[in-house]
Amino acid sequence: MTTTAAPTLGNPIGNGNGGVPSEPVEAPQRPPNRRGLFDFALMSVLVYAVYAMTPIGAIVETGVNVARGQKERPSWLSTFKGRETAVAMSEEAVADASAAEGKIPLPIAAAADKHKIDVEALAALISVHGACTPTACDVETPPRTSTVYPPAATKARLSADEAAAAIAAATKEHGRNGELAVEALFVGSIPLKLALEQADRSHLDNAADVEVHAPFFTPSVRRGSLQGALGVIAVYRLRTLAWPADPGFRITSSFGDRVHPVTGKKAFHNGTDVGTPIGTPLHAAHNGGVKRQSRDSISGNYVVLDHGLGIETVYCHLDSAGVVEGARVERKNTVGLSGNTGRVTGPHLHYIVRVHDKPIDAEKVGESPTRGGGLSEPPPPPPPAKPVEPVKPAKAVKPKKPKAGEQAAVDAGPAPPPPAAPTPATPTSDAQTQAAPDQPAPPLAPVDAGY
Ligand SMILES: [Zn+2]
Repeated sequence: MTTTAAPTLGNPIGNGNGGVPSEPVEAPQRPPNRRGLFDFALMSVLVYAVYAMTPIGAIVETGVNVARGQKERPSWLSTFKGRETAVAMSEEAVADASAAEGKIPLPIAAAADKHKIDVEALAALISVHGACTPTACDVETPPRTSTVYPPAATKARLSADEAAAAIAAATKEHGRNGELAVEALFVGSIPLKLALEQADRSHLDNAADVEVHAPFFTPSVRRGSLQGALGVIAVYRLRTLAWPADPGFRITSSFGDRVHPVTGKKAFHNGTDVGTPIGTPLHAAHNGGVKRQSRDSISGNYVVLDHGLGIETVYCHLDSAGVVEGARVERKNTVGLSGNTGRVTGPHLHYIVRVHDKPIDAEKVGESPTRGGGLSEPPPPPPPAKPVEPVKPAKAVKPKKPKAGEQAAVDAGPAPPPPAAPTPATPTSDAQTQAAPDQPAPPLAPVDAGY
């Protein structure tokens, strides 16, 4: 038994190894060859998988990019979590996004007008990757701009006019929305087209959203050039947020430090109160998903929308919510009816805009009725700080660390306003007065939030 088994085992091994009997000459040679090739292919796949899918690969690549002087620093493990991480914003980009409040400098407005492009897309690009003087703006050339705008190939920086021309070319090619135009300048026209096609082919909804088609980029695009686009897209989204209620409703309490209307203590107001009567329809600030629809004793009925890239909007004290958790909403869809639920002294909307969980001043971004449509206007002559105004120090300190773009907007003040500058059609002058940083705050309206 044992004697028969041993030779049978020994035979094939012996043959495979080159064979002690030398009768078949070719047979022993082929298998090693094939195996070598197979091993090599397998090893290549493994190395690629480690590089593309694991934290080790992410760390190695981030390390290489940082060593090569890459400015954007995605978190070390940012690509490991798949979809979600493909669009993780760097800390730097978050800071830029919070600075989206800047008004639009005149050189940007002029260039956008000349090339008939979305002025907010150009403003977002320059505010994140560029700089402005009162008379001119320029921007670091996004890495793949020449794929849509060949003259950019030889330039390290683009003027506002050239950047506008590049966005115009990208818009012509990719249509759909301003986000895609900006994205094309960073990832290149063809990779963007392929990713969009694949997302469409996979029947994904909203394929034009970077979060949806980003997984179809190669890992090196996702971790590399795309990162530069994400901050711009986030700022663009903030700059184009719709106002949640009819702009005619008075803003009854602004964002920042204030004396709490219920407790009487000094407290930070993390949102903006809009004096909407019960039953007023409220609109989604942007496309997104309903992250939460719930109720508590302070916020009353509330809805949280997730607009991607860390941007969220929150609508509190609703009479009733018009959406359910998990639903998709489009910009300006009704999310609910205003009410007076929760800790309030009267009906109103407490509206919060958050970037990575940090609340920012909603009046300074998007279509806020007090932002003046985002175009730079001659500011009123700024009187020195009034000590009478302890309630809103946040406003007064605002220009502490101006971004280049904002500075330009301020400096450009004395220049005549652009012909197109729309005076915000706010029927009530109250909102205007309240927003002006140098005006004394009107007495707090009785209508106010506890939250
Ligand atoms: Zn409030």
